[in-house]
Amino acid sequence: MSRIQQQLLKLEQQHRLRQRRVVSGLDGSRLSINGKSLLNFADNDYLGLRQHPQVIRACAEAAQQYGVGSGASALISGYSDQHQALEQELEEFLGYQKVLLFSSGYLANQAVMGSLCQRGDNIFSDQLNHASLIDGCRLSRATVYRYSHSNSLKLVGLLQQHATGKSAANAGQENFILSDGVFSMDGDVAAYAELQQLAERYNASLIIDDAHGVGVMGEYGRGSWEAVNAAKPDVLIGTLGKAFGTQGAYVAASSERIEWLVQKGRSYVYTTALAPPIAAATRASLRLICEGRKLRQQLSKNIAYFRQQAITLGLELLPSASPIQPLMLGSEQRLLDWAEKLQGAGILVGAIRPPTVPEGTSRLRITFNAIHQQAEIDQLLEALKEAA
Ligand SMILES: *Cc1c(COP(=O)(O)O)cnc(C)c1O
Repeated sequence: MSRIQQQLLKLEQQHRLRQRRVVSGLDGSRLSINGKSLLNFADNDYLGLRQHPQVIRACAEAAQQYGVGSGASALISGYSDQHQALEQELEEFLGYQKVLLFSSGYLANQAVMGSLCQRGDNIFSDQLNHASLIDGCRLSRATVYRYSHSNSLKLVGLLQQHATGKSAANAGQENFILSDGVFSMDGDVAAYAELQQLAERYNASLIIDDAHGVGVMGEYGRGSWEAVNAAKPDVLIGTLGKAFGTQGAYVAASSERIEWLVQKGRSYVYTTALAPPIAAATRASLRLICEGRKLRQQLSKNIAYFRQQAITLGLELLPSASPIQPLMLGSEQRLLDWAEKLQGAGILVGAIRPPTVPEGTSRLRITFNAIHQQAEIDQLLEALKEAA
């Protein structure tokens, strides 16, 4: 057997082999998969914007005007007035000096950690941070200290021991605290108050990836930091493939830091710019998010309804107020059993296993959006009851 054959076999024995499903259509909450219509509780399109007529129209009109692809990287000829306008609108929306668009959140994090954090710096990183942050840390060549999830005591200990002081900053050594805003597999929100206090006390910059918070949380949809009345993080990353319903990502920061990303962010410089129709569609999404109080209220209602009913059924949910509602099942085998039963009942949910989550914490990742109907949530609950 070849090395890869052996490794694949091992994955299979561990119930960790991943498989793609072929989607052939989307209609409201229903996805067509292998000719079967499934109720979709698996994606991150929390406001249902990827099907919104205004978003689709903006995309189609821009494709007429600019073509479909951007044709080049942003520094050659791929940066259009649609990109520029979207960056300016995001600056205004989020209240930052500058915003820079990326082709994906994964790439944004490679650039942020890979160029803002440098050799000799210290990064203090939450253990449950998204894989793209972890990979970005590797690129940075900084020293990385991981603290157990949202554990401020552990973080204080590491900062006391390793954070460099003001004199080191003068010599060009910096400290960074790095966290998801909403944790992507658990749905809980970062401990902003503590993170911000510690960042100040230990002379660190706070970098937050709010991929799952923006659009959804906060009075104006600015994200998890707005929802908990926290100050703006020093560097804020957000993705457009989730609540915006399009694709790509942005980094919001000071003019100086954004300028550095343009110059030195390799995953900015050496990749094709976001497609102009996507930038145009995202501008339409942003307008809908700005006026999106009703959508956010509907989403909150759906989440609250599900939680209340699920708890009545005795299902063990994690304490999450976000659209991400994980149901912890433990082993890979048990998880796959449940996911299969649900699919048999016409329901699609995320089945999340190691290495995405720690050993023994395999879980269903059930996600909600503003366009789910109560009857559809009832169908999900019924299927969960049956599986239990
Ligand atoms: C989804 C996600 C990303 C990656 O964003 P893409 O645009 O899908 O590449 C980055 N960070 C977090 C926290 C995410 O959940």
